[in-house]
This record gives sequence, structure tokens and C-alpha cells, in this order.
Amino acid sequence: MKNRIQTFLRERDIREMMAKNGYGLQQIIEEMLKIGYKGLQLPERIAEKIDKYYTPEEIDYIRNLSKKGIQISFHHDQHNTNLAQKEKIYLVNAKRSIDRAVALRSDYIVFHLGFVDFDEKPYNTPEVLEEGRKNLVRNLDYLIKYATKRDIDLTVENNHKEEYEYVRNTKKIDCETEDFEYLRDELEKKGKVIKINYDTGHGFIQGAWVVKDKRDIKSMVEAAKKFAFSFVDRLGKNIYATHISDNTLTSHDDHMIVGDGIAPIKLTLEKMIESGYQGNFLYELHLESWLDKYKGKSILEIYKIAYERLLKMLEKIA
Ligand SMILES: [Zn+2]
Repeated sequence: MKNRIQTFLRERDIREMMAKNGYGLQQIIEEMLKIGYKGLQLPERIAEKIDKYYTPEEIDYIRNLSKKGIQISFHHDQHNTNLAQKEKIYLVNAKRSIDRAVALRSDYIVFHLGFVDFDEKPYNTPEVLEEGRKNLVRNLDYLIKYATKRDIDLTVENNHKEEYEYVRNTKKIDCETEDFEYLRDELEKKGKVIKINYDTGHGFIQGAWVVKDKRDIKSMVEAAKKFAFSFVDRLGKNIYATHISDNTLTSHDDHMIVGDGIAPIKLTLEKMIESGYQGNFLYELHLESWLDKYKGKSILEIYKIAYERLLKMLEKIA
């Protein structure tokens, strides 16, 4: 199998490498490519300041990476958009994000979907959920058209429930497999294809969520696997890209290096490959959650360990 390992470049990691190593953005990217990563996902918070903080040469450097076979993608800042609601400002933010991604010649952009509020009604009112889903379909229909015109793919990411879901009186519409089937079917009626950025870690947490006894590891792993396999069976054709990480199957959303958690990640990647998945395997690590494990190691050293671990796992599959 062709090496398809990529990584997300998180803002806090970028800042730390800048502060500790004195690197510029270009140097950081070069170091990542030296490790072996074949593509990079850039966070919006870096990109939105790009004209201010980076030289035209650096911007040019990113724009030219695709010519060297490096895939560049872009992660929309989920905190300023909720596509399940009808306020126009969210569409404005989303379009601005697509423009930034296009300016960097990104191949695709990742969006989170959103949630509906239940401030005045009981949380399980079906009408409110229905309205949120309809807003999503309308907004995605519009944004997919907008992105296609600009020659960039739009992807949407799956998420996971959290313990405090109903305490905040909101319900996310991007956790259940049914949410994505609904969007797929409704968008299909409008001649659009939904492309999913499948976050393996989120899928595992969502699966294990139904097991209430968090000490029952065996049942949690089984439930996580069941969810992932069913998602691939039902929506595999729509999975376009990935976020890869391991975790402890709790809603802490650890974003660990593969092998450091207990998630059935190898089986899931195997299942995806068997089902014909052609996209990347893109790490999304949250180093700050488990840095003690790699005490004394630099960020680049940790990314190297991560790369080698995933490479070894994929070689065993292929
Ligand atoms: Zn993700």
C-alpha cells in the first residue's frame, strides 16, 4: 500500500515549536515531511492570521507543496460555525474558511456540523431535531456548491456524545450514524454527495458511550468496534478522509498515538481498507492530554514515534 500517513498540525504544537526551536512555519513543515508524513492539515487559527504573521515566501511554499505530491488540507474552526442553525453569520464564516483553504491550495476542507439548542423545549422534542437537520441539509447544499466551484472538496466530521450533552440543553447532530445517513440521502436528492472525514477516535467514543460501566473494558472495546464496523458498512463509500487517533474510550477524547489507548483501531483500519477506502490516514493528536507519557521528548520526536507506530500497523494490514 502506498504510504498515506499524514498529520494535523495543531496550533499549540506550532507555537511551541516556534518558541522552543525558533522554527518558522516552513521549517516546521519541512521537519514533518522529513519524518515521513505525506500530507498536512492546517488549522484555521493559523491560517486566518497567515497574511499577518507569515511572509509571502512562506505562503508560496505551502501553495507549492501539492506539486511535490504533498496533500494539504484545512480544518475549519468549529467554534465559529454551527451549520445546524439558520443564522446567516455561520454561512459567512464557513465561506470565509473555504476561501482561506483555497488560497493555500488545500485539497479539501473539514467542517464540524453543529448542534441544536433545547433552551425552551424538552431536549427530546423531535421537531427541534428535525429543524436542525433541515438547516444542515440546506447549509451543506449551499456550501458544497460553493466549494465545488472553487475546486475544493468539502468534508464533514463525525463527533461523539459527551456526558454533559443534555445539561447544556443542546444536542449534537453529528454523532449518530443515522445523522450521516439522513444527510447523505437528503443531499443525494439535491444531486450532492456527502464526503465524510471519519474521526476514528470520535467513532470509538460514540460506540463505547452506551456502556455505562466504564471499568468494563471488554464491553467498551466491543461496543466501539461494533459502532466503527457498522459506520463503515453503512457509510464507507462516503468516507473521504480520516482523523486517526487512539483513546481510552471515555469522552475525554484523548487523541493518542495508536497503540497508547485501548481502541480497536487496527481492526477498524483493516475494515476500512477491505471496504475499498482510498483516502489518507491523518493523525490528529492532542499531545497536551498525555504528555507525561513522553516526558523529555520534543514535539518532533513524539510525532516521529507516532508516525512509525502507525506505519508499522498499516504494514501489518497490507
Ligand atoms: Zn477530528
